[in-house]
Amino acid sequence: MDKKKEHLVIAFSLLFVALVLSYAVTTFIPAHEQKKAHQGSSGATSAKKLTDLPKGVSSFDWDLVLVNKWHKKDKEIDFEKAQVSGITMDARIKQALLDFQSGARAAGYQTQLVSGYRSIQYQKEVFSGVKKNNLAEGMSDEEAEKKTAAVVQYPGSSEHQTGLAVDLAGRDAFEKYPSLEAEMDTFASQKWLIDHAADYGFILRYPNDKKQMKETGIDYESWHFRYVGVKNAQYIKKHNLTLEAYVEGLKADNR
Ligand SMILES: [Zn+2]
Repeated sequence: MDKKKEHLVIAFSLLFVALVLSYAVTTFIPAHEQKKAHQGSSGATSAKKLTDLPKGVSSFDWDLVLVNKWHKKDKEIDFEKAQVSGITMDARIKQALLDFQSGARAAGYQTQLVSGYRSIQYQKEVFSGVKKNNLAEGMSDEEAEKKTAAVVQYPGSSEHQTGLAVDLAGRDAFEKYPSLEAEMDTFASQKWLIDHAADYGFILRYPNDKKQMKETGIDYESWHFRYVGVKNAQYIKKHNLTLEAYVEGLKADNR
């Protein structure tokens, strides 16, 4: 056998051993270990077992409804509506929001309520409006759709359609960033809102954390707050969770 052939034989034998080994590993690893590696298609959360969950709480509660790009709601959600400063929301969160805002005021910060409930129909109009602009700039349909989806939620996947989410800013932060930017959190007013939201039943829904962005499917938003009730909000804050991870934890506990 010449040197070249010899090398080939060695290379193929090594490849064969590697294949056998990888087959053995995937076949004999316990099933639950393999499952872990495959969570990753739907807002993959850490799948961490949650302990000391608050009592009397279920993933089916009205204030824990989960809407994201993997959990779309294609029908308008029906609930009693109320308004604060001309902005519509679920009537059940009105008092909590007013308390949140007056808490901020007592701490020395004026707030600006920017947005609340948005219907799926409205979201459709926003989406197609932005897409139309992109098309007008000469993008292909596919390109325009992709560019739009990067900045606007697909109709059905926006949390604003639940009436449980608000965009709330410190007034000074909003004056500097009227189109809402992550940097608003450099203002003490916005920081106060982020730090104290849980006391009023709200969470900062889209945190500034790479792993958590994968779970929510949304980049950091320093202004978007979601009502989940005080018990849930405090647990979520204490354990540094996303709503996705929390709801998954409740489900894993058969709740
Ligand atoms: Zn928002």
